[in-house]
Amino acid sequence: MSYIGRFAPSPSGPLHLGSAVTAIASYADARAQGGSWLVRMEDLDTPRVVHGAAELIQQQLQLLGMHWDREILFQSGRLSVYQQVFDTLLSLNLVYPCSCTRREISDSVLRLQGQPGDNERPYPGTCRQGLQKGRQALSWRLRVPEGVVSFKDRWLGDQKQNVAQAVGDFVLRRADGVWAYQLAVVVDDAASAVTHIVRGEDLLSSTARQQQLAQMLGYTSPVVMHVPLVLDAAGLKLSKQNAAAPLDLSHPLEVLQQSWQTLGFDRLPVSNVENFWQLAPRVWGQRHSRANLHGIK
Ligand code: GLU
Repeated sequence: MSYIGRFAPSPSGPLHLGSAVTAIASYADARAQGGSWLVRMEDLDTPRVVHGAAELIQQQLQLLGMHWDREILFQSGRLSVYQQVFDTLLSLNLVYPCSCTRREISDSVLRLQGQPGDNERPYPGTCRQGLQKGRQALSWRLRVPEGVVSFKDRWLGDQKQNVAQAVGDFVLRRADGVWAYQLAVVVDDAASAVTHIVRGEDLLSSTARQQQLAQMLGYTSPVVMHVPLVLDAAGLKLSKQNAAAPLDLSHPLEVLQQSWQTLGFDRLPVSNVENFWQLAPRVWGQRHSRANLHGIK
């Protein structure tokens, strides 16, 4: 098996330190394994896409010395592919329309559980047997089968989730007509034959959902590694939403070194970006060795 990794930013703004750390980890892992590294722009969420951000991200990656091996894939150019996969699921009766609003879902979950859950509440299955009388379809959901999804994360170890209980039937097509991240990511990783995903820990909770969907579509799920998030002074994840500062690329080596330290390594004894990338994959490979490549501890 030859290694294919990827970095999949959402072009809702330039990279910040948090997204740089993810990019650097996935690049170091791919290069440590002599693999390919792809970039995919996750630009489906049109209300959040910022004009020019995709170009900026490409410039930032180049300044940081990270070079992709295939033409960049833009999800906005793949709508017909998502539609095809969706139609397949529809023909198998694995998706159904849902008329519930966010409000109705949280109200009925409160009634079922008698207490507020955390911010992600399982969908209670209201529309599973059909739309409520006189109501219009808003979103489309996957009929999630019962069962536990387990996988090994190369950073965090053994993981498992009962998707049906923890999340419920999740949305594949949003009420605003946008294809959901969960669908697009699974379809695109499979289409690009991605073997290894390295991404931020905030996406750990999506992994079981993605593996469940991949399995229903007959795809092999990539091996995953979720790396630590960069937190701000208040302990919150850096994100474009909380206006994380863009990277200071007047000193790209410093950005690399800082990100490297966030990933638990010492600063590398190098004086430029090129030398950083000569050394970093070797150092990375010593810690995240081949033995661990399949998530075997
Ligand atoms: N586009 C997602 C983000 O920016 C990452 C998707 C992924 O790596 O699966 O958070």
